Amino acid sequence: EEQREAVLMAIDRVATRMQDEKSHLTDLDSAIGDADHGANLARGFTAAAEAVEGSEDDVDEIVKKIGVTLISKVGGASGPLYGGSIMSASQTLSEEGLTAETSIAFAEAYLEKVLDRGGARVGSKTMVDALTPAVHTYKKSIEVDELPPVTALAKAVAAAERGVAFTVPIRAEKGRASFLGWRSVGHQDPGATSTLFIMQELLATAE
Ligand code: ADP
Ligand code: MG
Ligand code: MG
Repeated sequence: EEQREAVLMAIDRVATRMQDEKSHLTDLDSAIGDADHGANLARGFTAAAEAVEGSEDDVDEIVKKIGVTLISKVGGASGPLYGGSIMSASQTLSEEGLTAETSIAFAEAYLEKVLDRGGARVGSKTMVDALTPAVHTYKKSIEVDELPPVTALAKAVAAAERGVAFTVPIRAEKGRASFLGWRSVGHQDPGATSTLFIMQELLATAE
């Protein structure tokens, strides 16, 4: 099935991207954290891609398995946030699979879980700063502007890019970076950056 192939291609692309960006993400995390974000995500997404390789399951089951694998392989603060939220949001795909409507529901459920689990808000200097404008832009682009999903996703990626830039001048309120207080100012958040990379790969898969 076409949807399944798209999901499997997407997770492969994300895994490759995380391997390629491993030292970049580690450098960002070494400035305001413990220098493991690149290794965490490269290990986790590679394991997730391997876990579902050649799968003949429905897309919701594949996405759920990706989430479960990320929970067990990523670790740190980002593992439960990425993995647990993907796992939970996979339920939105259980009836109709992946459509324009369910992709919005998935994105909203994912954001809601990240907010619930992490307790961050926009401005806390976390992945939420990239994710929130991306999800809102995606939904509005489809529902209000009636753009095709791929165009909406491109706009969401642009919004996530602005969100990543927004993390630089602000002070961290959550996670390890918050221990630095004002010394976290001037550094780009690793988790916002990896969120952008994932979205860029989803867009490249959809194009
Ligand atoms: P750890 O900080 O445990 O080493 P990682 O380095 O893998 O975990 O991930 C750090 C990233 O996780 C941060 O850059 C930030 O984007 C994200 N993060 C940390 N805490 C939270 C939180 N409470 N809510 C949302 N995102 C968070
Ligand atoms: Mg870290
Ligand atoms: Mg760590």
